[in-house]
Amino acid sequence: MFLFLGAELLGGGEIAAMQARQHPFVGFDRGKLAAEDVVEHAGVVLRVGRAGGSAAPAAAAQRRRNDRRGGTEEEGALQDPAGRDSVRWHDDDRKPMSSERRRALGALADEVHGCRLCPRLVEWREAQAADPPRRYRGQDYWARPVSGFGDPDARMVLVGLAPAAHGANRTGRMFTGDRSGDWLYASLHRTGFANQPHSRWRDDGLELRDAYITATVRCAPPANKPTPEERDACLPYLERELRLLECRRVLVALGSFGWDGVLRAARALGEEVPRPRPKFGHGAEAEVGSRRLLGCYHPSQQNTFTGKLTAPMTDEIFARARELAE
Ligand code: SF4
Repeated sequence: MFLFLGAELLGGGEIAAMQARQHPFVGFDRGKLAAEDVVEHAGVVLRVGRAGGSAAPAAAAQRRRNDRRGGTEEEGALQDPAGRDSVRWHDDDRKPMSSERRRALGALADEVHGCRLCPRLVEWREAQAADPPRRYRGQDYWARPVSGFGDPDARMVLVGLAPAAHGANRTGRMFTGDRSGDWLYASLHRTGFANQPHSRWRDDGLELRDAYITATVRCAPPANKPTPEERDACLPYLERELRLLECRRVLVALGSFGWDGVLRAARALGEEVPRPRPKFGHGAEAEVGSRRLLGCYHPSQQNTFTGKLTAPMTDEIFARARELAE
């Protein structure tokens, strides 16, 4: 099945009508959200438009929740999934194309957040929230699919495996709130792609510059292992996201699962994928259509604790990505 994301969604025909695979049944399940979550989400969308007071509804809703909980604004943002936006950008002085692209990515994020296509993953992501480790007890988990995050005009796109059960599945933003994220964003900061070296919760001020982070699968899987069926069910989201990220020149795959996901998505988008299929490796490069694919070991603790992936190795990948993106 194909979906045309044309002038209605993208506005003014500034981005050509496009084709992308769509899921047979996916919707933003507002019935699963409290009314104020929906209001807050609208607040985020308004904030995208940025006209001085447009962030007020979101901020007021946040204050009301904090008052009820007796927490600070920062704690509220940490604990409250409704206070988290999914598409951020580094300045407001962007060409009109950017705002259309941002809006389309936001609409896609809405769709992703409501997805329940994979029963095993839906059950798992919610079970992690219901019985968290002691250090996270009392926190309000996101426990929904996690959408991509970053600069809509990014020339570098990072593609990971899937959200971590107590990282992105808790905070609602890719690579946020866990050790892998600490490692990744520290490197992105050192190489100029992020404005700060840490990523703790959704409204922590992190902004990506010329970079966008997404994943092959959007729900936390048991043992970090989605099944092939779950991967295939989720892949159209990556395809649609990549289609919208028109400025991308370099794709950095974090681990072999991300590498495989990019190649599959590229093929589905009609881009030329080399044969034989290029193999993943740290520092491996391949031409995919008119873009370059770059491999990087996943910044999992298994890799970083054992020294398989070091900070200089990670920085080298992003320095190379910048070189390729220029
Ligand atoms: Fe939906 Fe993807 Fe989550 Fe499956 S993994 S439920 S397709 S968002």
